[in-house]
Amino acid sequence: MISVSDLSYLGLCQIAFLFNKKAKIVTKAMMQGAKRHNELQKQAEVFTDDEIITKIIKGEKFVAREIRVADYENGLRGRIDELQFLGHNQGMKNEVLIKDDKFSYSNFLGMNDTHRIQLSSYAFMMPKDAKFKNLVDVIGASINFRRFNTPDSLEFKVSGAQLSSWVTQVPELTQLAENILSNEIIPKPQGFALIDSEWLPVSKRTCISCKYNKVCKVGRKILSE
Ligand code: SF4
Repeated sequence: MISVSDLSYLGLCQIAFLFNKKAKIVTKAMMQGAKRHNELQKQAEVFTDDEIITKIIKGEKFVAREIRVADYENGLRGRIDELQFLGHNQGMKNEVLIKDDKFSYSNFLGMNDTHRIQLSSYAFMMPKDAKFKNLVDVIGASINFRRFNTPDSLEFKVSGAQLSSWVTQVPELTQLAENILSNEIIPKPQGFALIDSEWLPVSKRTCISCKYNKVCKVGRKILSE
């Protein structure tokens, strides 16, 4: 099973996806981020899966954090930071917003394709997950960018309509990820632009900010040009 956090690297670079899978570099920001996520979870109300299903069927409005989702058919799994359930719609499905928290020391640069692939993968899996099958309607998603040292945060939202166009790409991306991991194909220095549904060559700027640029021969070549 491919994790959503690994799959999202295809938005940056296929080669970075492989490095992240085979020789993951864990940065200080990632460790601090995990700590802050735990703090947010401790502040939240905790529900069992059965309690969540009961509340969804009753059409309750509630927030649940750190929810695992899986789609075994496509071999994809993930953990969603926050689900905001808004109650039943006319179709008697509980409408839900998917929310992800990103902590950073640097300024917010806005949503990029790794974020878009992450949110689309969650939106793709929700209706397929055994817990939520036929019970929920994903009506939107957002990334909440938070700074470590200040209470500042900035939320970037994606509409349900936008998400539904992006989710169509998820099975193909997951299959490509599998093919890279099984050495069926050689990863290229290309990132997937979800909005245009196309692969774009990585830029020098991408390689400069890539945490694998010291171990990546292709990246070093790009940087030397
Ligand atoms: S250094 Fe450049 S080519 Fe290498 S993994 Fe990073 S983004 Fe891809």
